[in-house]
Amino acid sequence: MKSSLKCNCGQRIFTRDVMQQGFYVRRFGPSFVYLKFRCSRCKKLGEHYVKQEDWDAGMLKDGALEISGSEKVQFESMGKITIDEMISFHYELENLEGLEKIADGIVREVENES
Ligand SMILES: [Zn+2]
Repeated sequence: MKSSLKCNCGQRIFTRDVMQQGFYVRRFGPSFVYLKFRCSRCKKLGEHYVKQEDWDAGMLKDGALEISGSEKVQFESMGKITIDEMISFHYELENLEGLEKIADGIVREVENES
């Protein structure tokens, strides 16, 4: 049984409730995955810090399927967002000069994949 993230009211938090996700790298001690969410039941905003070693993207998955079969195949072929990807995104954000650069980077990434 995977661990799950919960709101203070006890409601489980799923991917669709997450408004912001980040990664905190600390020089000493464990790094953390940061999640900001809005609870689907009580509508309150909350935050979670999950130790990197405890983090699993499956924590946010709903057992009930809510995407279509073709989407599921597409998402699965893309794979999970790995910690490495989150770390590189974190550093890219730090080096960011403007939104144009992000858009440019995304376009280039798509071209490279094909
Ligand atoms: Zn709640």
